[in-house]
Amino acid sequence: MANRVEMKSAAQVLEAFDNIRRAQRAGVYAPHKPLLILLALARVQRGEPRLVAFNALDASLQSLLAEFGPSGAARSRHYPFWHLATDGRGALWNLNGPRDLLARPASATPNLGELRAHQVQGGFAPQVDEALREVPGLLEAVAARVLETCFPTTLHADIAAAVGLSLDRPAAAGEFDAPTYGAADRRRRDPGFRERVLRAYEYRCCVCGFDLRVGQASAGLEAAHIQWHHVGGPDIEPNGLALCALHHKLLDLGAFTVEQTEHRVLFSQHAISGDRGQQGELRHHGQRLLAPQHPGLRPGSGFLAWNQENVFKTPARHVGDVSRPGRLVRG
Ligand SMILES: [Zn+2]
Repeated sequence: MANRVEMKSAAQVLEAFDNIRRAQRAGVYAPHKPLLILLALARVQRGEPRLVAFNALDASLQSLLAEFGPSGAARSRHYPFWHLATDGRGALWNLNGPRDLLARPASATPNLGELRAHQVQGGFAPQVDEALREVPGLLEAVAARVLETCFPTTLHADIAAAVGLSLDRPAAAGEFDAPTYGAADRRRRDPGFRERVLRAYEYRCCVCGFDLRVGQASAGLEAAHIQWHHVGGPDIEPNGLALCALHHKLLDLGAFTVEQTEHRVLFSQHAISGDRGQQGELRHHGQRLLAPQHPGLRPGSGFLAWNQENVFKTPARHVGDVSRPGRLVRG
């Protein structure tokens, strides 16, 4: 083939994706770009063409951001489709559409209607696309890395399933580590965090009291980070909650949060349960968390505020016996 641009190496591809993550503001949950990337990776995995019209991804982006993003995230679902093209000066993502539209400054993001009306297409840059298709395991390594660095572990399987990505064939660990991409860049997890948090709450879910043991070990009980570890949340008890697997996932999906003053569980108005009786999930709404053993281990206000701003799907349901619910979580 004449004029063929040389395919990027696996290390170069991984580095290009990693640079996007570095550009994200520390401490803020920003799921837009990673969800678009995962959706696009799934297309490549299925052998679909390199470029895809925004129209074809619109509904998927909307539902992904509604499920996995904070409140209102879906309104700006078209931003990454446009802005990814300026990352690394187009090294990763290319656009195809009317010349005058593409000539706009990067900051002049077209609105949804313009992207739809002009049939703007986007896709990975040819050298990246080719490497993802040709190098065995590279696509899975990129996807695993994006999941690991952008989302809490509780949601990885759900997100992969929602974008249609198969991770059945994970790359061997370290196989594609680029030089700039090593362990030093990754925040280590404190292996004692789980045990300290579970002990603080006496090995019970602090929402529902679940405390099953199998033999000596707690089963289905997890130490949740209130401010997620991958966005800088520390491995300390005031940033931890002992939660059953269900309540851990519901916290990370923004279905409920915990207000700062009385530590009441507040469910989102978006969380609907068919069973409205005493046995339904919403029976926990308005309840106080089970307190940890020592006041010094209670959840930190700053971490709870982070959850409310970045993860919780506002507005909160009303709590009759809390005096000023409107002040607890913005509606
Ligand atoms: Zn629970």
